[in-house]
Amino acid sequence: MTQRTVYIDNNYVAEQDAKVSIFDRGFLFADGVYEVCSVLGGKLVDFEGHMRRLRRSAAELELPLPWADEALLEIHRELVRRNDLAEGLVYLQLTRGNPGDRDFDFPSADLTPTLVLFTQAKPLLESRSGREGIRVATQPDWRWARRDIKTVQLLYPSMAKMAAKAAGADDAWMVEAGKVTEGASNNAWMLTWEGVLVTRELSSAILPGITRAAVMAIAEALSLDIEERAFSVEEAKQARECFVTSATSFVTPVIAVDGVPIGDGVPGEVALRLRAAYIEESRRRAV
Ligand code: PMP
Repeated sequence: MTQRTVYIDNNYVAEQDAKVSIFDRGFLFADGVYEVCSVLGGKLVDFEGHMRRLRRSAAELELPLPWADEALLEIHRELVRRNDLAEGLVYLQLTRGNPGDRDFDFPSADLTPTLVLFTQAKPLLESRSGREGIRVATQPDWRWARRDIKTVQLLYPSMAKMAAKAAGADDAWMVEAGKVTEGASNNAWMLTWEGVLVTRELSSAILPGITRAAVMAIAEALSLDIEERAFSVEEAKQARECFVTSATSFVTPVIAVDGVPIGDGVPGEVALRLRAAYIEESRRRAV
């Protein structure tokens, strides 16, 4: 990969020159939040929604975010420009910063948060998983109880994904009390044989996906029936279709759950229709 220009502490620097203190609470305590915006045609998808969620995540952790949305938009755009990024993503991470030593207590007022952004070039529109779908394997949901906050504590999702891969799948679906919460890094959906789209209701058990909300609005506009409720692994295995949504995977069909083929074992028609509609709408509304 060619060397990127990244953003740190109000500067644009070469990636190897971007340094964070070993005392940064993001490093020592996973005391930080993040967002990922996809980039299509050099423009940002769902920027406003991602910044709204960032502000909420930060507020829930009493983490200061002294940058206005316009300033954050300018940083995103400048990084896209400097890295000549046509397709991929912008990753943003905000941590509580460096208190000068390691301590569970943190000074609430006079700490300067660390803000880091970088780009990743990645084909999003034409991906194998989007075309052919993915297989998921279920894993127990052993994350903490505030999954509605987009924190950088991603060790468990990472372990769950590795376990799913070891089981021959592409990704993990996490399960609590027999019900699917969400994917390791996406929201989980199914379509019943009666044609009802089902995805778990928002609560502290899952991340309120920005793509989930956009796809829901599209599904409503297409007059599809939607139920926001938890569904079991058994229900998913017997569904007509399953799929996942996230900023970088858009709508991605799920063709097997724990080795059981979903429907005909190929990407579902509704999932592919929602994917196409989401992409079209995102391109139109990107900023
Ligand atoms: N759930 C989890 C656990 C995630 O990590 C993500 C992706 N960040 C999502 C859902 C999807 O959210 P979004 O559509 O905003 O990318």
